[in-house]
Amino acid sequence: MKHGAGGEKMRQLLDSFVLAKFDKDVGDVPLSALDDSGIVDDLVLTIDGHTVKPLFFPGGDIGSLSVAGTINDVVVMGARPVALALGFVMEEGLDLEILERVTNSISKVSREAGVPIMTGDTKVVEKGAIDELVVTTAGIGVRSEALEHNFEVIGQYRQTDERWVRDSGLREGDKIIVTGTVGDHGIAVLSCREGYGFESDVVSDAQPLNKMIEKALRVGGIVAMKDPTRGGLANTLNEFGEKSGVGIQIEEGQIPMNPTVHAASEMLGIDPLEIGNEGKVVMGVLPEMADAVLECLRKTPEGVQSSIIGEATNEVKGVVMKTLVGGRRIVEPPIGDPIPRIC
Ligand code: MG
Repeated sequence: MKHGAGGEKMRQLLDSFVLAKFDKDVGDVPLSALDDSGIVDDLVLTIDGHTVKPLFFPGGDIGSLSVAGTINDVVVMGARPVALALGFVMEEGLDLEILERVTNSISKVSREAGVPIMTGDTKVVEKGAIDELVVTTAGIGVRSEALEHNFEVIGQYRQTDERWVRDSGLREGDKIIVTGTVGDHGIAVLSCREGYGFESDVVSDAQPLNKMIEKALRVGGIVAMKDPTRGGLANTLNEFGEKSGVGIQIEEGQIPMNPTVHAASEMLGIDPLEIGNEGKVVMGVLPEMADAVLECLRKTPEGVQSSIIGEATNEVKGVVMKTLVGGRRIVEPPIGDPIPRIC
């Protein structure tokens, strides 16, 4: 399970069995960048396998999750998602009513986002070979006017030859924005899982963010973006810092968090910053543009609770958080997954 947790063990697995085997330096954003999508010939490509348990949870299901997750991985490159591919692997005996609920949900979310399902694949395996249903979604995206504008704005303040919004784009002084409360998705899934079943009013944030991010790019000045899925905010900030070669300082009091998520995390002994989200983006923004981007995000339904949580700085190494009580804590990259199988 650690090999799938998104931490150090998974990195070792990828190094030995993926990066060592494939051409890893093809394209504008190559495989070796381990970014949210790969980019070759101005075409953005990404893929996700979804194994969430249970299949239905407060605020969503495996269908809405898979569409949102894949759209968001395209979107955080600054691209406009244009099409999805959908693969089902079903366990023999799967109730077709379950399949219908999932396909209804996929249909609804992809229509609302304006990103159609264009191709797919269906397989059935023997009972017990998998747990009910695995959904795999791939997505493609293209450049957009909003992305071109974003880089025009960046060019007014900083020399850059980047053409895509990458994890490695942060420089000293850039502000860090998170577009809403963290930890909701993981806690929502856990709250309805057998053996936990605690009372909770938290619903998953799983949602496509293409419309919100397009508006933010039209303001401009976004130099780095990532969706804080597996590994949560802690992993995202550490990846930003490591790939950009800069430290990051954040303030605990500025991180939006649902009080129930905070309480549930304390009860379970897990760090809410390590819990996966499915409808949030973390971005690095030029200091000159941060307030304007924040204002724009807060006017969108998906980004009402957006907040500037800190900045990139060479005064610290790694990711450091000023705590509510006035101390400082190092935010380590997560080693394991506090809540497995939430995506
Ligand atoms: Mg991602």
